[in-house]
Amino acid sequence: MPSKNVKEPFVFILFGASGDLAKLKIFPALYEFALQHRFPEDFWIYGYARSEMTTEEFKKSFENSVREKFGDETNESALEKLLLHIDYFQGQYNAPADYKKLLDTLKKDSPEGTPLIAYYSVPPTAFNDISINLSPFKEHFDMRLTIEKPFGGDEATARDMFAILEEHFDEDNVYLLDHYLGKESVQSILSMRYTNSIINHLLKGQLIEYIQITSFEPFGIKERGRYFNEVGIIKDMVQSHLLQLLALVTMSMPNHLNAESVHREKYHILSALTFNPEKFLLLGQYDNYTKEKDIPEDSKTETFAALKLCIDQTDWAKVPIYIRTGKMMNRKSTYITIVLKKLSFQESIKGLKSNKLIIELQPEGHVYFKITNKRGGTYHEYHQMSPSESLACFGDDCLPEHGRLLLDVMNGERIHFLSFNEVIACWHFIDKVLKEAENQNIPLKKYSDGSEGPDGEIEFLDPIRKWHQI
Ligand code: NDP
Repeated sequence: MPSKNVKEPFVFILFGASGDLAKLKIFPALYEFALQHRFPEDFWIYGYARSEMTTEEFKKSFENSVREKFGDETNESALEKLLLHIDYFQGQYNAPADYKKLLDTLKKDSPEGTPLIAYYSVPPTAFNDISINLSPFKEHFDMRLTIEKPFGGDEATARDMFAILEEHFDEDNVYLLDHYLGKESVQSILSMRYTNSIINHLLKGQLIEYIQITSFEPFGIKERGRYFNEVGIIKDMVQSHLLQLLALVTMSMPNHLNAESVHREKYHILSALTFNPEKFLLLGQYDNYTKEKDIPEDSKTETFAALKLCIDQTDWAKVPIYIRTGKMMNRKSTYITIVLKKLSFQESIKGLKSNKLIIELQPEGHVYFKITNKRGGTYHEYHQMSPSESLACFGDDCLPEHGRLLLDVMNGERIHFLSFNEVIACWHFIDKVLKEAENQNIPLKKYSDGSEGPDGEIEFLDPIRKWHQI
């Protein structure tokens, strides 16, 4: 039996239901809920978009996206039953009359207080219109606005977006979704820290020599050229995904594992991020980037970044943190390496390597320690052992990232979402990084497609360290 179901009837409205994210992620996730019997008896799923489509055509597009993902393994009966709950509503995002019609329709079926999940699967330019026009719905529904990153394009635009949301809703009504936080392996960071003193005691600034976070993708920008070229990899990857990982490993563990406490502790870290402007950033662009679709020949957008930063708090003040991320790299790999300090007597042991805690997030989730022991026999030689545990989900209770998070929204659970403050703090830091990069006119280094990024980048950031390889 699945561990978590949706018990109460709900309404789900997918804005931008004609788009890519809907087809690639949301429809298959809803199908998996149905397959795993997670839905209550009564629920209503509406696709909302401007495109002209009948309900039958919308159902067909839903069905096609499920079949594309699950092929011959599609469960016909689960899909058929789910399609009975699905409808399409054609409307503009900025037309109050369309929302009024929608509200009147929804009110007929659902009693007052029914949760209404509004999923913003549209470009950010449409976010504010949707928020404003959904305002009257709160008189009847328990609103849960689910907004996928990017949350604005800098601190100022994020603040504007949150100001509009706060004019019409409470922050508790808003679920800011970063899909990284729906990954099984990422969610494990929090649960491992909460349940294991051994890990939690090690994650203290006084014990750590440095932290490295690597996130490589072996492909380029796919169909997202226009978007990516405007933002670059620092905004696309570091601003939310990788700073969230950093916050999860460095924050103080609250006594209670609830949304408010976790958001507060993450914010303490994210609002203290800083950097020393000397040799803090290296930028790269893969050789064939400007030959990609929708990319201008003279584009100066970075597709690789390596950044050295620190946390300006007493406990973490002397711990360097290195983040590197790139597209078109030699492998798919996301992992965090936490290197522990050696004790003074260990410094004198020749060849002794530092202990490491490694949390591997992609392609496979694993957590392991690198601990050192003497080799068997009479030689004084040391080697590293790696007790390892998978962080993957096995069995029939697993859900993809968007599914994990959507299930939380349906159950009103906010722990794996971001607070407004966290997002503002991240933008504040990233805006400073980008401003300094511009002031220093940091050059863009070319790197070969399928490589490790620009040559010599770690030596540039720090002459004594190497990137930990897995
Ligand atoms: P799309 O560009 O496919 O847009 C989704 C739908 O929004 C379109 O089908 C269209 O529907 C409507 N739309 C398109 N342009 C505009 C516009 N200028 N103004 C108003 N409506 C418009 O986006 P995606 O589906 O790829 O992504 C949706 C959101 O999720 C975006 O915010 C994106 O940044 C974010 N995201 C997407 C990811 C992905 O993998 N695709 C990954 C992570 C985040 P219609 O014209 O029928 O109304």
